Amino acid sequence: AEFTALDSQADDAASEEEAELSQPVLAVVGRPNVGKSTLVNRILGRREAVVQDTPGVTRDRVAYDAQWAGRRFTVVDTGGWEPSATGLQAAVAAQAELAMNTADAVLVVVDASVGATATDEAVAKVLRRSKRPVLLAANKVDDERLLSDVASLWSLGLGEPYPVSALHGRSSGDLLDAIIKALPEAPREREAVAGPRRVALVGKPNVGKSSLLNKLTGEQRSVVDSVAGTTVDPVDSLVELDGQVWRFVDTAGLRKRVHTASGTEYYASLRTKAAIDSSEVVIVLLDASEPLSEQDLRVLTSVVESGRACVLALNKWDLVDEDRRHQLEKELDRGLVRVTWAERVNISALTGRSVRKLAPALRTALASWDQRVPTGQLNSWLSELIAATPPPVRGGKQPKVLFATQAGIRPPTLVLFTTGFLEAGYRRFIERKFRERFGFEGSPVRINVRVRE
Ligand code: GDP
Ligand code: GDP
Repeated sequence: AEFTALDSQADDAASEEEAELSQPVLAVVGRPNVGKSTLVNRILGRREAVVQDTPGVTRDRVAYDAQWAGRRFTVVDTGGWEPSATGLQAAVAAQAELAMNTADAVLVVVDASVGATATDEAVAKVLRRSKRPVLLAANKVDDERLLSDVASLWSLGLGEPYPVSALHGRSSGDLLDAIIKALPEAPREREAVAGPRRVALVGKPNVGKSSLLNKLTGEQRSVVDSVAGTTVDPVDSLVELDGQVWRFVDTAGLRKRVHTASGTEYYASLRTKAAIDSSEVVIVLLDASEPLSEQDLRVLTSVVESGRACVLALNKWDLVDEDRRHQLEKELDRGLVRVTWAERVNISALTGRSVRKLAPALRTALASWDQRVPTGQLNSWLSELIAATPPPVRGGKQPKVLFATQAGIRPPTLVLFTTGFLEAGYRRFIERKFRERFGFEGSPVRINVRVRE
């Protein structure tokens, strides 16, 4: 049984890895003035003013969310990368190199009205080594007469040139179709299961789980009958709180108050893991009248590893006096470092104290768990943060963060594309600042780093 449990954990890890990368990345490269920004705006389907370059400063925004034929992807304008190479040709070639190491596909833009220049050749030379798909856009083909010039661009050795006019929108549909074909197929995001949101109620034995469930269900008639057409797994309970119906998962054991005698610890922990896995948000019950125990920490670790949203309920608050409260604060500061983002509610399942605060906390946590920061907004915030506090130098090298995208929700997952390793301390700094700016109370936030150089 233990091996089976381990195997299924490994599967979870693999599917999470895929989910992280669910939004593929297209990098746009080419020499200045060929129309990259205009084409990016065309791809984004808007006629927004082209982002201004500020010399010497990382461009305000470099990455954007795009969608075509129902597929979502991230478009990166490499103009903001500022490679330190001297000379135009070297700079553009270095950008192409970075693009090909970072993105899932590269779009190189050439000005067809000028033809292939030495710089274009240099870029093409780099990109011919690319292991990832490369597409060639022949821009500024504003009318049919220029089509004959387009054919000469086959000489770049990057395959078929797609004639487009970014300015007038000519043929960009064909190019977009080709881009979608070139980008890796993205697994669709875990879809919301219809119906009430799923809550797990977990905590060590005797912390008050069944008392709380009774309190929550006791103050109402059973809602099972009143939710028309709902089939409820008999191990779950539907509970109406604060005008919303919730599915408390795997509560059969709690209701029956089964406390088996043998091997309880092991089976209780399997049971806890199963409940967490089938939930979206977890209420972790802690006994405020006792010191935090190893068992509490194991439960918290399971929650953190699961990536579920979380609310901490400090139960038996009726037993907490002034002295105990001071002591508890110290224990929690030490014990809850990995879940500082979770809201704490002080309750008493016995007296009903503050139990009605649970529903709003659950709603907040789930809203955070579902939240997505648009790529443009994320990057304008990140570039400011990094300009003010760059990552620490490692081995004489300054790692650069090229751009970031929120690749997934449930839990919110950021992917940072960098030119080097980012220390754990710096990643925590980014997470702290991210939360200061965007919130995400009640939800874990994962930060992954893709180093591709
Ligand atoms: P970037 O430096 O590669 O990002 O190029 P921009 O997008 O800033 O464009 C440079 C110039 O080329 C601008 O004046 C654009 O209006 C112009 N341009 C872009 N696309 C086209 C096009 O398809 N046809 C024509 N005639 N001009 C274009
Ligand atoms: P479970 O094992 O987690 O389901 O815990 P129970 O609900 O069976 O509670 C264990 C014991 O703690 C019972 O004697 C409850 O009456 C008691 N208890 C639960 N909640 C509270 C509370 O808020 N205050 C106090 N004083 N006792 C509580």
